[in-house]
Amino acid sequence: MTKSADLYLVCDPWRIVEEGWNRERNMVSESVFSLGNEYMGVRGYAEEGVSEESLLGSYFNGIYEEVDLNKSYKGIVTKTHFMINAVDWLHIKISTEDEALDMALCKIENFRRVLDMRGGTLTRSFDWHTKSGAVVHLEFIRFLDMENPNRAYQKINYSVTGGNVNLTVLTANNFNTGHGWDKKNYWNLLNKDWFETGAAVHGQTVRTGQQIFSGFTWKTSEVYKSCRKDSEKSAGFEFILPLKDGSSGWIEKSIYNYVIKERNCTSIPVWENGVAALKYSLPDFNAALEQQRKYWNNFWQYADIRIEGDPLNQQGIRFCIFQMQQTYNGYDPTNNIGAKGLTGEAYNGHAFWDTETYCLPFYLFSNLQAARNLLSFRYATLSAAKERAKQLDCKGACYPIATLNGEEACNLWQHASLQFHPSTAVAHGIKHYFQLSADTDFLYGQGVEMLIEISRFLLSRGAWNNDKTGFGFYAVMGLDEFHMMVNHNCYTNFMAKKTFEYTEQTLKEMEKKVPEKAATLIKKTGLLDEERKNFAVCADKMIILYDDKTKLFEQHEGYYTLPRIEISKIPITDFPLYHNWSYDRIYRTSMIKQPDVLMFLFLHNQEFSEDIKRANYEYYEPNTIHESSLSPSIHSIFAAELGKSSDAFRFFGFATRMDLDNYNRNTSEGLHTTSIAAAWMNIVYGFGGLRSDGKELILNPTLPEHWKEYEFGILYRNVHIRIKVSSREITLFTNDKIEKAIPLVIYGKLYTFDSSNLIISLKK
Ligand code: BGC
Repeated sequence: MTKSADLYLVCDPWRIVEEGWNRERNMVSESVFSLGNEYMGVRGYAEEGVSEESLLGSYFNGIYEEVDLNKSYKGIVTKTHFMINAVDWLHIKISTEDEALDMALCKIENFRRVLDMRGGTLTRSFDWHTKSGAVVHLEFIRFLDMENPNRAYQKINYSVTGGNVNLTVLTANNFNTGHGWDKKNYWNLLNKDWFETGAAVHGQTVRTGQQIFSGFTWKTSEVYKSCRKDSEKSAGFEFILPLKDGSSGWIEKSIYNYVIKERNCTSIPVWENGVAALKYSLPDFNAALEQQRKYWNNFWQYADIRIEGDPLNQQGIRFCIFQMQQTYNGYDPTNNIGAKGLTGEAYNGHAFWDTETYCLPFYLFSNLQAARNLLSFRYATLSAAKERAKQLDCKGACYPIATLNGEEACNLWQHASLQFHPSTAVAHGIKHYFQLSADTDFLYGQGVEMLIEISRFLLSRGAWNNDKTGFGFYAVMGLDEFHMMVNHNCYTNFMAKKTFEYTEQTLKEMEKKVPEKAATLIKKTGLLDEERKNFAVCADKMIILYDDKTKLFEQHEGYYTLPRIEISKIPITDFPLYHNWSYDRIYRTSMIKQPDVLMFLFLHNQEFSEDIKRANYEYYEPNTIHESSLSPSIHSIFAAELGKSSDAFRFFGFATRMDLDNYNRNTSEGLHTTSIAAAWMNIVYGFGGLRSDGKELILNPTLPEHWKEYEFGILYRNVHIRIKVSSREITLFTNDKIEKAIPLVIYGKLYTFDSSNLIISLKK
């Protein structure tokens, strides 16, 4: 794999630490030091602004704008939407009589930026050697409340040595923000006002008519002269701080943001609600911070992955887990997980198939409600998926490749019109969720309706071959985005087969267990017997290009005949290929972007023998360039299963520290949030050997040779089980009360886990 680490941050088990400000890395650090709480997210930028490449990004889940695209052929999207930069609620300006604070222009020493993953806080501190000779030590602390996600807090501590200095500090909530890539401001101001110790602004997006109320209250350690500050779409206060040599103090800001996603909503008194919350319900900084620490402390009790003997990966995996929880924790079923979370504008804030395939497992094993909410998002957007199917001259529901609101937002037609894995990923997600939750309420309600509509879509998009012996998908693009318009992409065909089968199986079960509900649903969806028959026949006759002699699946018809290139010979300077190769050049060879065959072998792991997995891994891995950051973890998981421990470790290193070490050289655009989820899978499914695609949960732990010991947790059947793997044994333990013994298959043998520890020798 031609990727290398750019080791820059201090290694620390619970913190991400940057020492010394590195202006070339400013954008990367802004991404890495992002904070979020699902409701909103903010990059780790310097709140006072800096004359260096920077993105003062503040984002709210589900807040976006739209633009029209040129009308072209039918089925090609005519409008797209994208997450927009919103109110800067950290806005600050600091100056002395003769200079304004700007890290790029002023004399700054002892710079330190620390993300504390146990407290959920970001602290930035430095000494500012002012032109007057006085040194102002500044410390900025911020956090986003995890339990009350409308709230956020900011504090500035200051002290002065070497002389007196008059500081002017402006603090405001500011809608004058420019979107990152086009610098446009997408906000109309509806209202702003000041209170005795606070102010608020109320903005609305220009076209989509969504609203954000953003207000704050402030406190200072001393009584300072202050005045209201008004600047277009911003409202704030300015303080004059006459600081004596040796003095110190602080300014605190408690922020309340309130989002209305509904377009042009008039039924909610947004301003009044916002002002009331601001005036009566905000705790102060210290009280909120204490709560925040308790929240994270509780979270880490069950979600932590502990690694002994590998400090870099220890820090890396905690960062991944922290970012997952920040990005999404099941607060609101109308939220989803963008490929970059809420940390940057690349991928426009869109959610992809990544959600059900890469992110869902993390929630399935830590927070089932959050997992259910992610699927409910798809249910809430079912009508948009049906509309999309119609645009493609099909029936049923086609889930979008990229979306914030359920509509297809991908303006690359070859992806939007030829890739169907988001639909089969939703079907797979439903099955996976049900397997772990046994939530019939969901399955027989929202779940099966989605399954019917997805299967209906697949039926109408697929076709029989000429001699009517087999069914499959023509003119598609599979997961591997380096081959388009192919026939019988194995992943597409296989996952469609599974979707048909699961739909019919669920319907049959429903008819047996809840016949009235089943009848109502069949009526509601207008499902015909003929369609059901076709689900079964098409599943049965699905064309799967498999050769029993070689044990290989052909990725798509004709794949074997494609010209080969030796991918190890591609110079590192050619990466990322999308930027350095003409777009069509990537389609001309057998080179694969990311696992395609290997992906369905992973998702349906237990259906395939080790021989098949080995043959396909050994055939496809050397052809894979890992241009998608989602790719290495899946390879690592396979390598671990196949006993290829050095491959497993090589691929793994990339996953956990991808953003901390800027492996892809594009962390500046935002974190690879969904690949971060894959890093969690990499340990739990890879080294832990967890398999959750069958009736029983399976564990096959191995210990990477570089590690002394590791421990991870899974929430299974309502019990938080900790699994410790040391050089001699595996120990399963819990602090929860177990009502009913839990069956688990470990190294192929069925065990029941009850209240006592379960210890098993480690298989070498
Ligand atoms: C990958 C897709 C993925 C998307 C968002 C692309 O590079 O090929 O599979 O859904 O990124 O993460």
